[in-house]
Amino acid sequence: MNFSDLATHPHRRFNPMTREWVLVSPHRSQRPWQGQVEDLPPETQMAFDPACYLCPGNVRASGTRNPAYAETFVFDNDFAAMKPDTPTLEIQEKGLFVAHSEAGRCRVVCFSPRHDLTMARMSVPELRHVVDAWVEEFHDLGSQPHIRSVQIFENRGAMMGCSNPHPHGQIWANETLPNELTKELIAFGDYRRLHDSTLLGDYLALELEKQERLVCANDHFVLLVPFWAVWPFETLLVSRRCLSGLDELNDEERTALADILRRTTIRYDNLFRTSFPYTMGFHQRPTDGQAHPEFHLHAHFYPPLLRSATVKKFMVGYEMLGMPQRDITAETAAQWLRDVPAEHYLDRLSTK
Ligand SMILES: [Zn+2]
Ligand SMILES: [Zn+2]
Repeated sequence: MNFSDLATHPHRRFNPMTREWVLVSPHRSQRPWQGQVEDLPPETQMAFDPACYLCPGNVRASGTRNPAYAETFVFDNDFAAMKPDTPTLEIQEKGLFVAHSEAGRCRVVCFSPRHDLTMARMSVPELRHVVDAWVEEFHDLGSQPHIRSVQIFENRGAMMGCSNPHPHGQIWANETLPNELTKELIAFGDYRRLHDSTLLGDYLALELEKQERLVCANDHFVLLVPFWAVWPFETLLVSRRCLSGLDELNDEERTALADILRRTTIRYDNLFRTSFPYTMGFHQRPTDGQAHPEFHLHAHFYPPLLRSATVKKFMVGYEMLGMPQRDITAETAAQWLRDVPAEHYLDRLSTK
């Protein structure tokens, strides 16, 4: 089988980051369906919502009043999934009943005081404040003695179960490494021992050579649809320089990250002319006090939409019981994301 056969014949692709496989069925996606757009109105057009617990000056469920913040605002989640003061617990019976306590902290990051913005509608200087807030949180949380993992993420859109359109993300920091980071750490470590380079650095170099799955780029970051993508329009954002965490970004790279996040989310919005839902998040080195030269900073975007603003991909049947499957190839998805205009479909109004 040659690379050219991948466009027509069923096959499976290997994800070297997680060591899992995805089934690709390109013969099922021959029908043309690009361009089905519904021009749905934005989720909200209110710059300030008196009922929103994230808007400046409003009172949250905990009774705390938000400050009149002007850029970003970070606070401890009032309904945190983990707490710092968790009693130690260990259950182990015949390897069949195993449980451990997990202490941690959950933070909320408001990206902007404006209730009606999304990353795609924010300016680069506005997004730079978000990047700075992430860096600060990664550093502060990661410096705490018992925190080994700092997971920064955003759940965007009602389709992803995010009930509040106010632009915000979350940070969960905890004692042990979560499953996804563990898989990557093992793969990255093994790769470095074998090749004396980073897996993602070598992968990025190959993708830059082949050009087929690139979406957009700037001087410091590249957005591409990974060869092994599972979600129809899944992308991987990789730093050109090998950094193990956001805290290693220099001033220029922080602005470049803000820029590429804006470009990425604009392309997503333009694809089906809707405020594109997704889960996105960064993977960074564990904050265990060790150097992790094998780790290469990146972000994953996992959007659920399949062929329009309302038709989403379901992970059911064979995918729940066997392995994930996709019809449209990573190469086609990259082409579509490349082909949309770079400017947002809604004429961007000044945020001032
Ligand atoms: Zn709000
Ligand atoms: Zn990752």
